Amino acid sequence: MSTQRKLEGKTALITGGNSGIGLATARLFIQEGAKVAITGRDQASLDAAVKELGPNAVAFRADVADPAAREQLVASLRDRFGQLDIVFANAGISGNTPVGSTDQKLFESVLAINVTAVFFTVQSALPLLRDGASIILNGSVIASLGSPGYAAYAASKGAVVSMARSMAAELSPRNIRVNVVVPGPIRTPIWARGRGEEGARALEPFLASMVPLGRMGEAEELAKAVLFLASSDSSFVQGTELFVDGGAVGVPAGWPRNLVK
Ligand code: NDP
Repeated sequence: MSTQRKLEGKTALITGGNSGIGLATARLFIQEGAKVAITGRDQASLDAAVKELGPNAVAFRADVADPAAREQLVASLRDRFGQLDIVFANAGISGNTPVGSTDQKLFESVLAINVTAVFFTVQSALPLLRDGASIILNGSVIASLGSPGYAAYAASKGAVVSMARSMAAELSPRNIRVNVVVPGPIRTPIWARGRGEEGARALEPFLASMVPLGRMGEAEELAKAVLFLASSDSSFVQGTELFVDGGAVGVPAGWPRNLVK
């Protein structure tokens, strides 16, 4: 049986690689033979992540929404790796934006990080990308579920999917693939941001009730889907969405709370 690793000799950029889905993906990419650059804003968790990930990881502190930081990042990546095979534009924020009481600044900050910065991450990385590279964007089931209080986040993640299709069309002549991984509720630090660990735990039964498989997903389960899209296993997959959501979008009639006991 072949033991060939799926990303042997590849280089990858993972934005938001110091936490949650990005960190789990960095771990898996390295196990599969890649050299990985992770980014984030929080220096302490970047340092901790690199310590854990070992010598095939490098961290750069960079705010994805800051054009100067993006350019500096690309210069550092060029020095370190020369070229890139994989970009996982994963960094993102949530945000409660109910219609009727939302401040414009908050609304725009969600779009700035989740949409504009994703586009410009790809644009900045483009000169480093080898022909045949793979770009993966991170979407969300919230784009499809009509979740109350999430207009900005839903709009941002819907935009990610639309954007991916345009970029896939433009980059197809170079055999660069652009796809979106679409997570359902995944147990990561995102749920504790702004509500604390206890608040996040209290939310879990509700989140699990939106998933026909009856539970939240784990970051490692997302990472496996990203690995598929990053590797040559998905060589004919272009401009698509891969839902990793336990059925939350595809089979809402199966949500545990919809079933008659
Ligand atoms: P985390 O909060 O654990 O991770 C978010 C990451 O994004 C962190 O590494 C954070 O680093 C980074 N980040 C946020 N803003 C910026 C910025 N301006 N510049 C650079 N890095 C930034 O959450 P997840 O792992 O859950 O989220 C990862 C992605 O998955 C997001 O795009 C999210 O929308 C998406 N997603 C998550 C779901 C879930 O249930 N967990 C469901 C659907 C989608 P730092 O704080 O250091 O800046």
